[in-house]
Amino acid sequence: MAGEPQDDCLFCRIVAGHVPATIVRETETTIAFRDINPQAPTHVLVIPKAHYPTVAELATADPALTADILRETEAVADEDKLESYRIVFNTGPGAGQTVFHAHAHVLGGRGMQWPPG
Ligand code: 5GP
Repeated sequence: MAGEPQDDCLFCRIVAGHVPATIVRETETTIAFRDINPQAPTHVLVIPKAHYPTVAELATADPALTADILRETEAVADEDKLESYRIVFNTGPGAGQTVFHAHAHVLGGRGMQWPPG
């Protein structure tokens, strides 16, 4: 069922506490933790506790939860005192998505290029 935890999902396992992560923030509906392979001085992933494979599916199923994610990206940026930062939702394998549990990357603490690679 949509939103239910999946046994084979790495991020569901982090939500359940079965895989360790450096958690920076947690709310009733979301958690934010540091990426294991950081691409910037701040690289935090903000995820819904509920399982949706992509942000597109999350946004369709639960707009309020999508807003929770965006609110938390700003809270992470505040916590790390970022004046500028980038929020990325890789969506689909061709865009670089490797973990199919919706997540926002919050990247900051260095200069950013546009367009991204
Ligand atoms: P994607 O490529 O799906 O947009 O992003 C997945 C992210 O999850 C990658 O940036 C990757 O480094 C991160 N990641 C993969 N495995 C783990 C893990 O076990 N712990 C943490 N904290 N991050 C992970």
